[in-house]
Amino acid sequence: MRDDTDDRSTVIDRVAPVDAPPPARPAIEVDDPGPAETAWRAAIDRAALPPWHPGAAGIVLVVSPHPDDETLAVGGLLHDLVAAGWRVRLASVTDGEAAYPAVSGLGALRRRELASALDRLGIADATVIHRLELPDGRVAQCQAALEERLTPLVAGMSWVLAPWGDDGHPDHEACGRAAAAVVARGGGGQMRFPAIRFFPIWAWQWAAPASPNSTIASSAGKDSSPASCSIT
Ligand SMILES: [Zn+2]
Repeated sequence: MRDDTDDRSTVIDRVAPVDAPPPARPAIEVDDPGPAETAWRAAIDRAALPPWHPGAAGIVLVVSPHPDDETLAVGGLLHDLVAAGWRVRLASVTDGEAAYPAVSGLGALRRRELASALDRLGIADATVIHRLELPDGRVAQCQAALEERLTPLVAGMSWVLAPWGDDGHPDHEACGRAAAAVVARGGGGQMRFPAIRFFPIWAWQWAAPASPNSTIASSAGKDSSPASCSIT
């Protein structure tokens, strides 16, 4: 179980190559607690990452694969940005409806939890949610559709925040790839300037601090055949 008390607001200014063939990946034990927070903090200190200066207040687009990812990854950051006058456009890519198949109505429940989380963060009034309704667990198969739906959303954005392309979850990685592709195309010429940063979510648990960009994702659910995308 993830611990949402961690500081997960780190942003990473890089993404894994998207065209390289996927290497063999070890199976992931979801319940593995992963590296200690102190190990990550030491690694981050050693890396001496440069501070991120977002500049004058504008609008930030957050690409969130499942309701809760935006909160776990950049909730604190969004709180601070909104306090500084920023507004948030949240691309909520799936409803997270497939996480626990035995739970009926999970997607609706997670949408309510999302609304509650934004309220608790104090950013509800400054946030517009765009529900993209892609299928939970099959975002990689729908990457083209995701890019199409993200393209108009980057209009007028100062920044795009998206999952790290090597985060370890197929949906997360697909969101990172799609956001990077849309920004690389300049968002159809609508972005104020192409600017994107990437955040880890599961990588805190699944990656090793000594090699934070190692490939660590589960081999499960890695079918990326575009033909298997089924959306309405
Ligand atoms: Zn997620």
